[in-house]
Amino acid sequence: MNNVTKSDDSGQISAVIIPRQDHPVSTSRFSEAALNVLNRLNNEGYKACLVGGAVRDLVLGREPKDFDVGTDAHPEQVRGLFRNARLIGRRFRLAHVRFRGEIIEVATFRAHHDARDDKQDAALSDEGRILRDNVYGTIEEDVIRRDFTVNALYYDIKDHSIIDFVGGMQDLELGVLRLIGDPDQRYREDPVRMLRAIRFSAKLGFTIEQASEEAITANASLLSNVPAARYFDEVLKLFLGHCALTTFEKLRHYGLFAYLFPATDTVLETEEHNFPLMLVSQALRNTDQRLAEGKHVTPAFLFAAFLWEPVRLRAAELVVNGASPIEALQIAGNQITGDQVKTIAIPKRFSYPMREIWNLQARLDRRFGKMPYKVLDHPRFRAAYDFLLLRCGAGEADQELGDWWTRFQEVSDNERQEMIKLVPSNPARGNKKRRRKKKKSSEKDA
Ligand code: ATP
Ligand code: MG
Repeated sequence: MNNVTKSDDSGQISAVIIPRQDHPVSTSRFSEAALNVLNRLNNEGYKACLVGGAVRDLVLGREPKDFDVGTDAHPEQVRGLFRNARLIGRRFRLAHVRFRGEIIEVATFRAHHDARDDKQDAALSDEGRILRDNVYGTIEEDVIRRDFTVNALYYDIKDHSIIDFVGGMQDLELGVLRLIGDPDQRYREDPVRMLRAIRFSAKLGFTIEQASEEAITANASLLSNVPAARYFDEVLKLFLGHCALTTFEKLRHYGLFAYLFPATDTVLETEEHNFPLMLVSQALRNTDQRLAEGKHVTPAFLFAAFLWEPVRLRAAELVVNGASPIEALQIAGNQITGDQVKTIAIPKRFSYPMREIWNLQARLDRRFGKMPYKVLDHPRFRAAYDFLLLRCGAGEADQELGDWWTRFQEVSDNERQEMIKLVPSNPARGNKKRRRKKKKSSEKDA
């Protein structure tokens, strides 16, 4: 049974109302901003509900990531009510209400495309993908265009009840992610729902209900039609959601990772040694750990880890053809980045530091003269050093090199001089002449 939407005799979808005393959700767990927005809409006579992930997380006793509000007020009416409201989005128009630094997303209840004759504000692609979604409707219509039953619960501020149209409460108890409606159709409408299934199953530890799961394999190829800009946001949610490693493993299990990082997937599938997998897994483990400790993580580092093996292999080819390690990494980094951004639109503010992390890997190898001091002074040194340690841990770079840099940072200036003198072998020295000769032709490529 995929579709648990309840209908009464007239074919109307009917709701189970769970009164205040029968559910664990309390407004004391709402953010001040969310409560403010809900109360204001309600006082003005609009229907106002907390919706989506916040209700799901609060029922589960988890801390919501953000608070989304659903209402029958139109975006323009919402803007009229709140001084700090801004209308955003074309594909999906909604109001952002800002309140003491927090943003509450207020979305007007929407209907499915077929529900209105006037198609002006809705559009589908040839594959059935939703391009625009601005047909307003009732709460009953709104519920069936949400993705999973557990994401389709409404907390009504008016009487503090939870409205459950699709068996979401039961699925929360069972720990099941179940698409609302026909899975094939729902994935066709929006292939990103497949990624969302993986993300929520990793985050909540839920199983994906059988029909919703089977349809993933059948529809995976639709992921190649998703615009690169949308993927960027989605990929951040996948890997910065505190369960990056599990998410990655599940994406690979379902064959979806290939649609996000094609070059990485190829090396993971074809290479005999397992250090690419070790490196990526460790980067993801570190990400989860840093986030758990409340530390900052940068997507640039993550992207650098995902793409390192394709970059390294390309650079190695270039070195065989006579390029120096430094220029080879530069060219390879540009090429692999150029290919990757066709799939995921990585903004320059991340792709630039990502390439710096790679480029510095060759410079970390040049331990003679003033070189180590220059590298140490580089603004991206810390990230590049962490990246080197990751490579050492995966067995791809020499542990001696990682240890040397660890020590180099700790010791006095005199000892640093000694350390440079004692560097065992320096391949960069021998290549010096050839490297200079090659530089001109490669500069053209870059
Ligand atoms: P998170 O904890 O990651 O914020 P969430 O469930 O709140 O999870 P959002 O992306 O914030 O996810 O979306 C809010 C709600 O909007 C979802 O719970 C779901 O009801 C609906 N929704 C979001 N994206 C889609 C989609 N692609 N298809 C259908 N419904 C969606
Ligand atoms: Mg949310």
